[in-house]
Amino acid sequence: MHSNPPAIEEILKRHFGFPSFRAHQREIIESLLAGEDVLALLPTGGGKSLCYQLPAIVNDGLTVVVSPLIALMKDQVDSLLELGVPATFLNSSLAGDESSRRRRDLSRGAYKILYLAPERLVMEDMLDALKAWDTRLFAIDEAHCISEWGHDFRREYRQLTILRERFPGVPMIALTATATDRVRNDIVSLLGLKPPRIHVASFNRPNLSYRIVPRTAPLRQILTVLSEHKGESGIIYCMSRKRTEAIEEDLAEQGYTALAYHAGLDSEERARRQDLFLKDHVRIIVATIAFGMGIHKPDVRFVLHHDLPKNIESYYQETGRAGRDGLPSECVLLYNPSDVMKLRHFIDKMTNEQERLVSAAHLEKLVAFCESSLCRRVQLLQYFGETYRGGAGEALGACGACDNCLVSRGLVDATMDAQKLLSCILRIQRKSGFSVGLMHLVDVLRGAETDKIRKWEHETLSTYGIGSERSKHDWIHLAKELIRLGLVRQDPDRFNILDMTEAGREFLKSRSRITIASPLKTGRLTQAEREQQKTMTGAVSYDENLFTRLRDWRKKMATERGVPPYVIFHDSTLQAIARQKPLDRSALSRIPGLGERKLEAYGEEILKLILAKE
Ligand code: ADP
Ligand code: ZN
Repeated sequence: MHSNPPAIEEILKRHFGFPSFRAHQREIIESLLAGEDVLALLPTGGGKSLCYQLPAIVNDGLTVVVSPLIALMKDQVDSLLELGVPATFLNSSLAGDESSRRRRDLSRGAYKILYLAPERLVMEDMLDALKAWDTRLFAIDEAHCISEWGHDFRREYRQLTILRERFPGVPMIALTATATDRVRNDIVSLLGLKPPRIHVASFNRPNLSYRIVPRTAPLRQILTVLSEHKGESGIIYCMSRKRTEAIEEDLAEQGYTALAYHAGLDSEERARRQDLFLKDHVRIIVATIAFGMGIHKPDVRFVLHHDLPKNIESYYQETGRAGRDGLPSECVLLYNPSDVMKLRHFIDKMTNEQERLVSAAHLEKLVAFCESSLCRRVQLLQYFGETYRGGAGEALGACGACDNCLVSRGLVDATMDAQKLLSCILRIQRKSGFSVGLMHLVDVLRGAETDKIRKWEHETLSTYGIGSERSKHDWIHLAKELIRLGLVRQDPDRFNILDMTEAGREFLKSRSRITIASPLKTGRLTQAEREQQKTMTGAVSYDENLFTRLRDWRKKMATERGVPPYVIFHDSTLQAIARQKPLDRSALSRIPGLGERKLEAYGEEILKLILAKE
């Protein structure tokens, strides 16, 4: 122990340049310094790394961080070195002599933090070495990987159970951004955490806005999003490898450099593409979900889903890769009911009964989420068992930053259309003696010319083409609403065919009126809506010109050093500079993210850049 340890606030300011702790950070750090075990469940961007990095600086001896991804280790170490914290990693990417050099330095106590992959950590000679190197704290990052119930089980993580046995007195912190109760229990029991302090933060991501729009003209819709994020980084998620490549090409034709990323590429090529993205040489990645956990790029400004994700949990994870740095970022999902059909079909073919039922239930929850007119944030958090209480000054129970909050869905009179749809079901049954699925029904209503229609002679029906003035999407939406209202029933055991219910018959006979939630909006947001979206996710104004110059300068520095730009400064720091325009060193030192070391290294140049304009 230090004889007179500096207050942790002072370290926060001096090394990290932050004026205050985020929610839970202080309590977590104090527990660790008091020698307790901790389980920290903080959302992405919640500031997990600081929870063990700061104690590592305060403690004597070594802090060992277990991390599943080798690529990420270098990034983290580079960031720490930039902060002036001696850190290193040992993994298979290092040449033998570099490895021995680092081990020698570890023996001399030259490092505060060591990053290790789990499989290396549990090797017998490494366990001995960690004792010799005076290990004082273990941090297990992405701790959910230890549980088979988690979404990313890794066998190597299981071996970590040996840590508690070998290091009974060394405190441990397990960190993750997702954990159900089951996963949580697994983490605690498998790691052998002594009755740990458990910290659960809200999983709300206040800086993310959510929008679900019907996929009507995907390329045009993608281009709209891109045009709203000029020069910013983003991820486009697709269901198939083929689609990622098709979109890469389409975008190239439109003058955008995008790179596809999927498991069909060899690992070297994948690493190369990821690196180009991390270093801002390529701004757009079009990916399957193979592009995932390793992405700690803090300035992803949009995540666009071209296809439906698997379930709400995946949607939360995938959108969660946007805006780690806390700046406003946008999540857009292009929704098309045909994706639902595809996924249902896929699920129906699953052989494991249990798995099939769970997947089907998850999918239906996701569909309900997409089609609902309630606040997206409220629904997402509800899914994770959390009640959204509204941001500062917000009305209770709505976020003001999702499509349903921004664009009032309102109710529309659907009496006429409902009558058309229901009678069409009736006519088809009368003529053919069987019921049909939604797509065929819509084709008949819109007067389409398909093989099925010809085969069954449905063009002779009096309801053929009576709904041609409405879009496919409108009809599907109406059908869903009628199902929801109980006028129509969809039979999952018979290819999802549609039948009228007793209530439906009643409605047709009685000629009563009916209102439904108006369909999702397809177009782009109005200027006013966009402004509101930005404000609600925490946008502030700054000198954009200066920000751009700072970014260019940062990229130059980063390229010289061979690190991603965010290792030097996060966008949030550059924006704060571009807002406050500090004119001397002492004012500059008050910018969040500018600790002593960075002030020393970059202060003069930043001041010059600011003055160049003034
Ligand atoms: P996580 O691992 O939980 O996703 P990170 O540790 O990467 O989050 O932190 C996310 C961002 O928050 C980083 O840009 C980090 O520098 C910043 N951050 C962390 N703690 C604080 C703090 N106390 N004040 C301001 N920014 C912080
Ligand atoms: Zn909302």
